[in-house]
Amino acid sequence: ETIDVGEMLTQVSERFEMVTKDKKDKDIRFENRIPNHPVYVDLDKDKMIQVFDNILSNAVKYSPEGGTITIQVIARANEVDIEISDEGVGIPKENQAKIFDRFYRVDKARARSLGGTGLGLAISKELVEAHGGKIDVESAWQQGTTISITLPYSRYKKAGGSA
Ligand code: ATP
Ligand code: MG
Repeated sequence: ETIDVGEMLTQVSERFEMVTKDKKDKDIRFENRIPNHPVYVDLDKDKMIQVFDNILSNAVKYSPEGGTITIQVIARANEVDIEISDEGVGIPKENQAKIFDRFYRVDKARARSLGGTGLGLAISKELVEAHGGKIDVESAWQQGTTISITLPYSRYKKAGGSA
């Protein structure tokens, strides 16, 4: 389907904002940097929502009290860049390559107390690649994490079919 990714991300971020406010366990600010024109991409909306749910739930989970989560959409000539940044604990350099592996979690003790299975990013990577896209991490220990996703405007193929 043809989806306005700016609108899709605004909706996902509003939902997360409501849920975190409701829970009152942490005060987190959401900042959206989204173009004021539609950015249409051909994608499977449910699957991409699953990807952004995973990434935003990580960002919330690892954010400090009072932290800001920034969602940025940049429409480039041949692709759209989406960046989700947090000001959380970060991921040490030596662990960054592994976070997209199934069941991998950086800090076993912390991971246990925060819950989860270590599948979120592995599934996200599969779904992004099924759209012909890429997912990457940039992070500094104790400073924050940025997950960036690049999607071509139109390359999504349904399994066994054509776009
Ligand atoms: P699940 O998503 O299955 O509930 P999970 O969140 O532990 O479990 P992933 O989403 O795959 O699993 O993330 C893998 C690991 O990468 C996490 O356990 C965490 O150690 C690290 N990680 C992911 N996102 C962040 C982030 N924004 N800040 C710090 N560490 C992160
Ligand atoms: Mg997760």
